[in-house]
Amino acid sequence: MTDESPLRYIKGIGPARAEALASAGVVSVLDLVEVYPFRWEDRRRFTTVSELRPGGGESTLDLRVVSSRLIRTRRRGFTIFTALLADDTGTIKAVWYNQQYLARVMTAESRVVVFGRATLARTGRELILENPDYERLDEADDAGIHTGRIVPVYRKLGGLGSRALRSVMHGVLAGLRADDLIDPVPAEVRRRQGLADRLTVLHEMHFPPANTSMTDLELRRTPAQRALAFEEIFVVQLALAARRREVEKSRREASYEIPDALRVKLAKLLPFRLTDAQKRVLKEIGDDLRSPHPMNRLLQGDVGSGKTIVALLTLLVAIENGFQGALMAPTEILADQHARNILRILRVAGSDIRIAVLTGSLKAQAKRRALMDIANGHAQLAIGTHALFEGAVSFKRLGLVVVDEQHRFGVMQRMALSGKGTRPDVLVMTATPIPRSLALTLYGDLDLSVIDELPPGRTPVTTVVRREADRAKAYEGLRREIAAGRQAYVVVPLVEETAASDLKAATEFAAHLKKDVFPMLSIGLLHGRLKGEEKDRVMQDFSRGAIQILVATTVIEVGVDVPNASVMLVEHAERFGLSQLHQLRGRVGRGAAKSYCVLMVGEGADGENARARLATMEETTDGFKIAEKDLELRGPGAVFGTQQHGLSDLQFLAAILRDPGLLDAARDEARRVTMEGEAEAVLSKLGGPWRKRLELPAVG
Ligand code: ADP
Ligand code: MG
Repeated sequence: MTDESPLRYIKGIGPARAEALASAGVVSVLDLVEVYPFRWEDRRRFTTVSELRPGGGESTLDLRVVSSRLIRTRRRGFTIFTALLADDTGTIKAVWYNQQYLARVMTAESRVVVFGRATLARTGRELILENPDYERLDEADDAGIHTGRIVPVYRKLGGLGSRALRSVMHGVLAGLRADDLIDPVPAEVRRRQGLADRLTVLHEMHFPPANTSMTDLELRRTPAQRALAFEEIFVVQLALAARRREVEKSRREASYEIPDALRVKLAKLLPFRLTDAQKRVLKEIGDDLRSPHPMNRLLQGDVGSGKTIVALLTLLVAIENGFQGALMAPTEILADQHARNILRILRVAGSDIRIAVLTGSLKAQAKRRALMDIANGHAQLAIGTHALFEGAVSFKRLGLVVVDEQHRFGVMQRMALSGKGTRPDVLVMTATPIPRSLALTLYGDLDLSVIDELPPGRTPVTTVVRREADRAKAYEGLRREIAAGRQAYVVVPLVEETAASDLKAATEFAAHLKKDVFPMLSIGLLHGRLKGEEKDRVMQDFSRGAIQILVATTVIEVGVDVPNASVMLVEHAERFGLSQLHQLRGRVGRGAAKSYCVLMVGEGADGENARARLATMEETTDGFKIAEKDLELRGPGAVFGTQQHGLSDLQFLAAILRDPGLLDAARDEARRVTMEGEAEAVLSKLGGPWRKRLELPAVG
């Protein structure tokens, strides 16, 4: 099939590229035109060098390379590439770090389009462009594809760079007719909603009309963007509705019983009194469990609201009814912590429930043992990571799956869970404060429960933003808390959890604290590259107080629970999103002691901006407010993360969030189509990319 793929015959693609594209999931012309730009550049008119101002906005310049130079620094492997660039009005220096191949791209006399922000060089005397985006324009652009218009900028795909992709896209779109497209939105719906036909929409999405406002494009509110957002919500709603109908048709093996004796037994397990919110949520769950249909519920509760105990009680109901339960966490640290806590609670209460722990880093023998226990039903409760739902695992009688910290899992991924039993009950827990309207969009097949109350006796964490000059004071604060018998986190940002250079920085920082700042204290280091058992040991040492300061990367972001930790210091807080900081901050303020969060901000040009942004953290501890602010400042991709989680399955989230009316309209239309019994027809004709994203079974 792929051999015949029409893509290889397209000008500029050819067999090799067609194959590369296919491995990126782009097989046909129809797939290709749904690869949307991630931004656009205004090249209707270029900014001139003489117009550049420090601290001005982003500009696009049309420049000639005068000369260039590659500098290898003494730090091994670190290179600096500088180019002197010119137009008719003057020259400017551009600098790129660690991109030595530029020496081959930016040869003297070549023409480059450069996009970026001019800043004052460290000397304070000249303007420079630091790490700007660039595009080399070799041939004259007679067709006006790359200049003289608003141009699309694409992410690299199957070996094709943005400019190549743009040429190809231009050609492909020119050759398309309306009939070639598959339109998931019925013509009647398009008419009713005033949406242009799909071909026009695609044209305008890639190559916006000349009079388009750049602001509208950035805010994702051009007619084309809205039409595609509509399409996306519409399709997702149809798919979720179909899924929901399927669940409603299905029945559980046996509905659970929750007799009074069980209630009393469970109540005895509790190490504390439940909050009213926890009770309410447990009642909602209890009602689900006694109904003949499987449960499909999203449990939302801010960090520290006490979701774990709710999960445990729910799991115990399933177990007492003779089923196995599974608890899945996003990281090994969290899975191990859950296992430890649950064992402790059960042991204190004298319960003899049998637990198996299954994570990726388990040794072969231990893993075999766990797998066997799960398969033969000896293990009543399985706790683990994704490893729980990999091919090798089979349950004897799986009745309930709890997924902790849903935002780490794909929206669609959770559906894979259901495959492991005969329609188990599913409870997904998340601390991400998703606005209700969005929750309905993304989890339209789930019922929603909210824990909107924190356990009593918590005093909100006091947060302060500090600059480098106040560092000594910040350390003093840590020392004071530790002298009072409490513990501290120091969080260091990593660009990439696996980047060796970053880990080195974290390790060095921990060593520096140990040697120069807190020589009398015991300091531990936790990061994602530690081996499973090492991670475990560090966490346990911290948990029992043997480590006083834990230097950690964001691996501690979700769920880690050490109530005696009362202060957190975050290095380079400006590199984190507000929602992420909120998650991090949730690691302290879990015990009775007054807790503090210190956000360290670097100096430099962006320091001022960062301080303004971080002030939100000083002002509120309300996860919803923080998420809203974050959305406003950085957009949904940044708030809800990127690739790994499902929310980015939705390309048009930004448009949806900014336009609730659009959301309502799409939902209403989807409902109408579903009522009219047309949903299956629409879903069945969707193309490959959609099928993958929705995890619909492949056709044919
Ligand atoms: P999260 O919702 O972030 O997962 P946890 O379940 O980890 O929160 O609970 C946070 C802390 O609060 C834990 O130490 C837990 O034991 C405690 N906790 C939970 N519910 C209550 C309650 N009703 N009363 C007192 N402490 C509670
Ligand atoms: Mg939790």
